[in-house]
Amino acid sequence: MEAKPHSPKIDHLSASQLTLYLQCSLKYRFQYLDNLPKPFRPAGLAFGSVIHSSLDWFHKQKVNGNGVTLDVLLKVFDADWFSQCVEAEVRFKDKDTGPALIEMGRQMLTQYFRAYQEMPVGAEIPFTVPLIEPVTGEVLGPNLEGRLDLAERDAVVEFKTSAQTLNAQDLKDSLQLTCYGYAYRMLFQKEPKIFRVVDFVKTKTPKMVMLQATRGERDYRKLFYVAKEVLHGIESKVFYPNPSFKCKDCEYEEPCLTWLGNEKSRQPGKKGGSHETDRYL
Ligand code: SF4
Repeated sequence: MEAKPHSPKIDHLSASQLTLYLQCSLKYRFQYLDNLPKPFRPAGLAFGSVIHSSLDWFHKQKVNGNGVTLDVLLKVFDADWFSQCVEAEVRFKDKDTGPALIEMGRQMLTQYFRAYQEMPVGAEIPFTVPLIEPVTGEVLGPNLEGRLDLAERDAVVEFKTSAQTLNAQDLKDSLQLTCYGYAYRMLFQKEPKIFRVVDFVKTKTPKMVMLQATRGERDYRKLFYVAKEVLHGIESKVFYPNPSFKCKDCEYEEPCLTWLGNEKSRQPGKKGGSHETDRYL
């Protein structure tokens, strides 16, 4: 693949960007710097987006004091799923099918609708906050940007869809939840008392699991240093493939297969040079 110019100038970072860089820095480059077109949308990603958008609609109706019926919520879900399928080719894997995912989503939202008794403060709240080391006061430069899935008076809430129920380590490792906690305290000038994760588990009989986690200063310091190292990696143009089970869903298989690394060090006759297509997967 020809080298494509890309700017290492980063004006903001998000939880998704940090997570993607840590999972596969090459995919980060394809997606956020090279802006390569995506030939398809993995069904799991499309499904997660539709669950999020349906819940966003539901919570906003509650914030605005509008009565919501389950029937209307499910209609919103159906319509959002339809628009996902129109906007891009949705690629299914394993035993997933469109009708099966629609049924699963409807069951999950029904469980949530019946269980949710809180009063939200806001849903999908956009934030742009400076990344500051809590102890030293060092400011990173790029802001942290994103959207809080849901905020309540004393709680910050993250929604997840997963193949199996998240365990304690998953909760501890969630960079997204750390970013939410950090943003919540910057936005509302107080610590959230509750960190709730609502896990929609795509088991044969779909289920919804309410989990709780904690976050504190040590986590926010770690977030700062992870962001700092990721930024350094991006600005130093450190991008390489990191094959894993996630490659099954990767939209960039083709450019990844033809990736040749730092083109300057791969000229013919130079050490590490190659005209052959490298296959990594
Ligand atoms: S196919 Fe795998 S290794 Fe290649 S860019 Fe995608 S996630 Fe990374």
